Amino acid sequence: MKKVVLSLLALFLIGIAIFYVNDSKNRSVSADRGRKYYEEAGQIIWDIKTKEKVVALTFDDGPHKKHTTQILDLLEQYDAKGTFFIVGEQAEKNPEIILRMFEEGHELANHTYTHPNSTNVSKIMKEIKQTNDTIYSITGYTPNLFRPVEGQYTDAMIEEVVKDGFQVVMWSWHQDTEDWRNPGVNRIVNTVLKGIKEGDVILFHDGGGNRTQTVKALEKILPELQSQGYKFVTINDLIKIKTLTDEKNSHETNSE
Ligand SMILES: [Zn+2]
Repeated sequence: MKKVVLSLLALFLIGIAIFYVNDSKNRSVSADRGRKYYEEAGQIIWDIKTKEKVVALTFDDGPHKKHTTQILDLLEQYDAKGTFFIVGEQAEKNPEIILRMFEEGHELANHTYTHPNSTNVSKIMKEIKQTNDTIYSITGYTPNLFRPVEGQYTDAMIEEVVKDGFQVVMWSWHQDTEDWRNPGVNRIVNTVLKGIKEGDVILFHDGGGNRTQTVKALEKILPELQSQGYKFVTINDLIKIKTLTDEKNSHETNSE
């Protein structure tokens, strides 16, 4: 009887040991210092706190010949500036759209070269360079913003990307339109309008599939937000506003 109890106890302890080893392995793979750390370090932005009526419209996975052009037409109509997270191989195919974005004052940003589902640091760094080279060869402009594919990052990736002079851009957690899965125009419109607040970063896609719903949703979102008094600014503009607000706040705290 004693033997049985002892061997059961041994099995139990082995089980716990295996659980802990696995757990620490998982942690090291998906290590994440967390939003608070990265926001304070100024290395990743999700959105900003501000009283200014500004929002940033961001578009991933393009450019797409038809849909990106339609989106650029709409942005022009509403005097809106957007930030485009460009996939390098799509830029190669549509250099005239990249040039138009640049000439019309939009933000050109980096979203890898082939949109790989990978967090391998050397692969990602190589793709980032390839895309920046492509955008530079078309416009003479070197992007300083990077958004990881599907927002998947590791601490190791962020470290390298930041070392290379990039700022990493995510999106407001309540402003993920999920337009990539074509949820219906109203669904996209409602997600944006219901949650809207100053300093939001809204996530859309201009490429990677049929983006007709995104275009139709923007036809409703842009005039509505404009009538509410919102201005549509780029991510670099938003970062400038954040820096000014932070400086003002620390000044006020210091003089108290
Ligand atoms: Zn993407």
